[in-house]
Amino acid sequence: MINLKQFEFWFIVGSQDLYGEETLQQVAEHARVMADELDRDSAIPGRVVLKPTGKSPGGIRKLFEEANAASSCAGIITWMHTFSPSKMWIGGLSINKKPLLHLHTQFNRDIPWASIDMDFMNLNQSAHGDREHGYIYARMRLPRKVVAGFWQDGEVRRRIGVWMRAAAARADGFDSVVLRLGDNMREVAVTEGDKVEAQIKFGWQVNTWGIGGLAAMFSKISDAEAEKAVKEYEASYELGAELRNAGKARTAVIEQAKIEIALRQMLEAEHAGAFTTTFQDLHGLPQLPGLAAQRLMEQGYGFGAEGDWKQAMLVRAAKVMAWGLPGGVSFMEDYTYHFEPGREAALGAHMLEVCPTIAAGKPRIEVHPLGIGGKADPARMVFDAAPGPAVLATVVDLGDRFRMILNEVDTITANDMPKLPVARALWKPRPNMRDAAESWIIAGGAHHSAYASALSAEYFLDWAEMTGVECVLINGDTKPARLREELRWGEAYWSGR
Ligand code: MN
Repeated sequence: MINLKQFEFWFIVGSQDLYGEETLQQVAEHARVMADELDRDSAIPGRVVLKPTGKSPGGIRKLFEEANAASSCAGIITWMHTFSPSKMWIGGLSINKKPLLHLHTQFNRDIPWASIDMDFMNLNQSAHGDREHGYIYARMRLPRKVVAGFWQDGEVRRRIGVWMRAAAARADGFDSVVLRLGDNMREVAVTEGDKVEAQIKFGWQVNTWGIGGLAAMFSKISDAEAEKAVKEYEASYELGAELRNAGKARTAVIEQAKIEIALRQMLEAEHAGAFTTTFQDLHGLPQLPGLAAQRLMEQGYGFGAEGDWKQAMLVRAAKVMAWGLPGGVSFMEDYTYHFEPGREAALGAHMLEVCPTIAAGKPRIEVHPLGIGGKADPARMVFDAAPGPAVLATVVDLGDRFRMILNEVDTITANDMPKLPVARALWKPRPNMRDAAESWIIAGGAHHSAYASALSAEYFLDWAEMTGVECVLINGDTKPARLREELRWGEAYWSGR
């Protein structure tokens, strides 16, 4: 359902007519070699499409007009091979609607000491051409990512790839729907928000469908279809003995399979990339979607519990960014703490809905009672999250704008918890649990988040930059007292944006 190669990234190389035909031909040839090589690199997730050299105001404006109109174009990479006077770029940049990456590089890695002359200098002058170009971005206050370094360097390509994945998630957002089944959980504040503003900023159409529609589709799924899905479960996950034989527990798994099939049909029919549920509105369904929500997240859908559409769309954006990368992405909730001195950690989980892409081993399907909602015992996958670095991301609505908050964490191997029947992750937040928790709470971060072991904070920072939302990063360098001041300064910048 996610295909990053469908996204094109237009590569526009800047120059000017002053240099003469021979130099411009060399510029175009270098650009072609670079575009071809970048396009073939597995670190580059999208397609790199070379466009004609930008060398006049009209030509440059036309390229941006075409980019705006091209739904396949998810972003634009600019690089000034030579000097390219930036007033020529104002017309194009002023109408641009696509994410921008300013690549600051040079075709040759080394100075050819023995042969360098003024012709070489005039051809390979991005060192000052890109400064002119950077000025016009800064002068026009344009959001962009700047990536500096030799274009064949692995780190340069990795950072271009990160930006491309963020841009793909942004493009996906403008072509998708959050399917809300039921409203926000009663009385909860942080999961509320401005859905109109969300569509303006993120592109997401956040709309409601009645749970009765899903219940009607659920009731039409045959036992045979559900049994086929359960065969898939048996191949992918562990099933306890009580689930393999006919009985109450087996019925619970079959019901979840029917919910999964019905929900997927509904998501496909509505072109939705994410969905929400709420245990307060399950009329006509036998169980809260647990295993079903986990399965659909595994397939690439975003999910938010208790009507949390903001986290649902963020999980979807992270799924797009992480597509094909090792590790996973899940809906997550800060649940309970371990305060033992020196071993402080946070235990994250949810009632049921944690995505198996973050699992350390093979998930196990189990059926247990749920102490909330008053429905039948739901089937769910139980597992521990794989240890390693991860990032938590959440979006909150501050009334006049959205704020994203990130926390870099290190997930660790948890002690056995034989009586805890949910999937979980145990992490040590950076810089430490006290400062991370104080910072998150000062910033107004939610208890719900997107947990990504496949991504670093850089992906979310790039996505926030091109989306135009505030992004608060809590990492190894964070000091809560300093952060409190930065948030206050930020009010002046972000208010009303
Ligand atoms: Mn919750």
